[in-house]
Amino acid sequence: MKEWETKVCWNNVCLPKARAFSWLAGNRRILSGDCLRKMGFVGPFRCVLCEKAEEDVDHLLLNCEFAQEAWLFGLQRLNWKGPMAGNLCDWLDSWLVSGKPSTFATVWKILPSIVLWELWKERNRRVFEGKAENRQRFLIRLERAISELVSNAASHVNLAKVPFTQFDASFLLSWPLVKFRPVNGHLRANL
Ligand SMILES: [Zn+2]
Repeated sequence: MKEWETKVCWNNVCLPKARAFSWLAGNRRILSGDCLRKMGFVGPFRCVLCEKAEEDVDHLLLNCEFAQEAWLFGLQRLNWKGPMAGNLCDWLDSWLVSGKPSTFATVWKILPSIVLWELWKERNRRVFEGKAENRQRFLIRLERAISELVSNAASHVNLAKVPFTQFDASFLLSWPLVKFRPVNGHLRANL
């Protein structure tokens, strides 16, 4: 198993379909333009997110300006700043492993899978339904998806038992949609 697969795909918080998709994408087994071309399909396969480039895995899910905005949206809210690799595998490989379990670590862990999954869903909405979310609405959708997962994770026994740190509290100010509920007698902070 490749290192990024362990870091990104195997956790019990993110949606199974999102984790499965990130595995397929990292292994270049999704039906993006480049893969379809290899299978003998004739394009054109333009990126429907920007309409400016040919669609391939790295462009669609990482280098496209639409994708970049999605990644930066999540990363900036985690106070992370740094160069992003141009290749999806390298990018996922470079994903740092967070230390102790915490609310922050939970968001950090699920972010790659959920960004990839939401980008793919948006791509498919445009290709198959002819509908498009504008960037702002897409980012709201992404924030909701992440917040919902983290809120649900609060009921997960491992997260419910870890101390809620000051750091968690401050970074969660950037995630107003994340709600914690008292679970199994563990009263959580409602932010
Ligand atoms: Zn694009």
